[in-house]
Amino acid sequence: MHDLTKNNALNLKSEASEFFHFETEHDLIKILDRAENDQKQLQIIGSGTNTIFPRHFAKIVIKSTNNNFKYSEEGNSVLLEVGAAVEWDDLIDFCCNKRIFGLENLAGIPGTVGAAPIQNIGAYGLEVSRFIDFVECFDTELRITRKIKPENCEFGYRKSMFQNASNLIVLAVGFRLKKDFEPILEHESLQDTSFSKAQDMIDEIRKIRNAKLPNPKDFPNLGSFFKNPIISSEDADSNLKLEGLKKYHLPENKVKFSAGEMLDKLSLKGMKIRNIGLWHQHALVLTSNGIVSAQDIKHVEDLLKNYVIEHYGIQLEREPTYL
Ligand SMILES: Cc1cc2nc3c(=O)[nH]c(=O)nc-3n(C[C@H](O)[C@H](O)[C@H](O)COP(=O)(O)OP(=O)(O)OC[C@H]3O[C@@H](n4cnc5c(N)ncnc54)[C@H](O)[C@@H]3O)c2cc1C
Repeated sequence: MHDLTKNNALNLKSEASEFFHFETEHDLIKILDRAENDQKQLQIIGSGTNTIFPRHFAKIVIKSTNNNFKYSEEGNSVLLEVGAAVEWDDLIDFCCNKRIFGLENLAGIPGTVGAAPIQNIGAYGLEVSRFIDFVECFDTELRITRKIKPENCEFGYRKSMFQNASNLIVLAVGFRLKKDFEPILEHESLQDTSFSKAQDMIDEIRKIRNAKLPNPKDFPNLGSFFKNPIISSEDADSNLKLEGLKKYHLPENKVKFSAGEMLDKLSLKGMKIRNIGLWHQHALVLTSNGIVSAQDIKHVEDLLKNYVIEHYGIQLEREPTYL
């Protein structure tokens, strides 16, 4: 048995009877042969910062060890290919040290590079899809490696087609980045700021995040547990229960609401049930405070969703995935 309790940010007790590291497609082919022989499926994991682990994995669990970087310059841009196992925040430091710019808004997000395209990570007015040039995947059905262009990734708010394509294992991600630092400061938290150096912006973003979000090492959590609901302007205007909530107007006649504000207004910030709580400084962050299982989390998830539907007529959508 391979213990995976330390490999998930909620610290859920979890184990897999079969667990393998892989770096290349050749390693994957060997693991696939074994899986086919044993009639088992594969489950790829990263750092477990957006996943809810079961007590026992019936599938063969695999994890990338590809920590390679490949770099080439093209005019004013840089094409950087990064292995799936690289920690996202190490990539932020690498880029800053090498004077490669673009990803600063995404500083401080935990997890691996390989998982970044899966939910199209985003923060402070930027989604990673803006800088993705390709996602290199091993296709376990065709047994070939494919470089998938962003226009075929169906990127959206915290979503991509990879979420429904368990046959695609990300080996590496190609980013098209810039040689000039041009900070993206449209987000409300950054509007009154200006930065001449990328390092200052990265430090500021990490500071804002650390003040709001608990560190999973101290308080096990998965960041935002629900997505911010996005609905049409017509639906927003006709739903009187939403009056008084902050509205963020988006293109295509859409309006975004803050799921955190909804939970906060329902006085759920800081609540505790079954060793699970909502963080006292940020109602969208679910933390585990003791021995907890995936079933306990599902119980609390349903309870919160039902409460929000009842009060706001809005169906919340969970951000992390149950494995
Ligand atoms: C404190 C905290 C703050 C956070 N803040 C943010 C934030 O600001 N913005 C944001 O977008 N997210 C945020 N997250 C969520 C999380 O950091 C991201 O979703 C991250 O990309 C998950 O990376 P991971 O390696 O931990 O993935 P995992 O949780 O291990 O996996 C996530 C999904 O990706 C799949 N996957 C992993 N690796 C691969 C691969 N190589 N190939 C194919 N599929 C793969 C898994 O099967 C799973 O479905 C936060 C999480 C925490 C704990």
